[in-house]
Amino acid sequence: MEQPFWKTKSLEQMSPTEWESICDNCGQCCLQKLEDEDTGDIAITKIVCRYSDPQTCRCTQYENRSIKVPQCLQLTPKLVRELTWLPRTCSYKVLEQTGELADWHPLVCGSDEGVHDTGHSVQGQSISENLIDPDSWEEHIIDWVEL
Ligand code: SF4
Ligand code: SF4
Repeated sequence: MEQPFWKTKSLEQMSPTEWESICDNCGQCCLQKLEDEDTGDIAITKIVCRYSDPQTCRCTQYENRSIKVPQCLQLTPKLVRELTWLPRTCSYKVLEQTGELADWHPLVCGSDEGVHDTGHSVQGQSISENLIDPDSWEEHIIDWVEL
């Protein structure tokens, strides 16, 4: 039986469309982070970027995201390996480290809802930065996103 592309290609070998399809749209990387200036430790908050759709957890400004949010990174294979704040369940990271995708991944289960139904997305677990006092971010640190 023919193997799916993510089992036969490295991240670098994927076409742009294949690369994009590896994102499971969990939205975890769009959560705001706090970095301890002394230790460099990173804490994740439940505060999500203002451009994250609360239902789909997708970016509503995907094409213009680097203009709208200059610190929003364009993920690359190199960054997948280097970024310390990329969530442990990010499908790029999982694929790079295990050669597999989770059974709730859209490409595996055939549905965009698997990531939400299994609690791996920020759907129902985040709050838009538009609704949060910028001085209160520390009150919204969470521990369910593992790095
Ligand atoms: S601009 Fe889009 S991709 Fe970037 S952090 Fe915000 S919601 Fe996420
Ligand atoms: S954490 Fe990874 S899989 Fe989840 S939305 Fe971000 S890039 Fe996509």
